[in-house]
Amino acid sequence: MRSTARAGRLPALVIACAATLGAAPAPAPPSGAGQRPAAPLPAAARVRVELNQLLQLHHWLLTRCAAAPRPAYEPACGAYREVQEAKAGPGVWQFVNDACALGPDIKAVAARGASLPATMSATDAGLTRRILGALASAWPVYEANDQVELTRSLQRVAQAHLRQRFSLNAEPRVMPLVFDKMLLRPLDAPLTVFPVTHGTHTGDWGKTVKGYYLVQPMLGEAVTESLVHELTHVLESGQPAGEHTMMKRLHEAARMVDPATFEDFAHGLVVYNTGETLRRVLGDNAARPYPESLSTWLPIYEKAWKPYLDGAAGADETVAALVSALLSRGSSQAPAPR
Ligand SMILES: [Zn+2]
Repeated sequence: MRSTARAGRLPALVIACAATLGAAPAPAPPSGAGQRPAAPLPAAARVRVELNQLLQLHHWLLTRCAAAPRPAYEPACGAYREVQEAKAGPGVWQFVNDACALGPDIKAVAARGASLPATMSATDAGLTRRILGALASAWPVYEANDQVELTRSLQRVAQAHLRQRFSLNAEPRVMPLVFDKMLLRPLDAPLTVFPVTHGTHTGDWGKTVKGYYLVQPMLGEAVTESLVHELTHVLESGQPAGEHTMMKRLHEAARMVDPATFEDFAHGLVVYNTGETLRRVLGDNAARPYPESLSTWLPIYEKAWKPYLDGAAGADETVAALVSALLSRGSSQAPAPR
């Protein structure tokens, strides 16, 4: 069994195009009032794109084993299905993604089952080891049968998407707007996007000793929208302590709102801000219609966030308007189902 799953790099063209995704202005002024990007992001904070076969296999098994049994991958597929049905905690998927992102090969990934976090429950620890074992047993089958073809289609779709999306001089305006409006600073560590053919969105971004990472499914996805959305999460989670981002200001001002409602409201705002930013920069078709689950909050975003995007309102008054609208709709209403 060869165990040489070293992360290969996508063609230089793709990397060069994708790099513009991370271009951001110098940190926005406290008001966040519509400053345009000036200085480029430090090199260390730029986005790079890397192919990672371990993540590709893991996400392929996650999506494919759930859809239908795949005889060549039994019993690995069976283990994936069982762990998914067992409703493994998010920590399980986070650990497996982190392990794959770190690599560098299947042997090292499998060995990480021996050093699970002490905070993990015994059940989740068992499920994590089950997945790591299944991944290791699937690896030789993948390497012999599917790796070449899947890598080819991944490179094809990644090139088409990223070239089309990131060489039009349009997207370089998207992330600076997100930085500007969310009052975000560049990350203190590199950010790697790992494209995979198929994927789920569970624990698929995080931070390892190598820096931040994000797993981006390329097939059947609104790639740009999903990238900008997930990047917003990664950037927010990586902000230095004490940084007064829009989300932190909002959280602070809405501390009397119950956590589940706030969580739903704040996450919806990321969906809305991503959609509006893309529509403004790239046109009406650049983002999907908002999901039904957002309908509870849409009127509030339209009323209180849109003027902020238009440059007609400052950060503080926007936070106040959002919280006042949130409170005045009454705490008795449950958040809409996702
Ligand atoms: Zn999200």
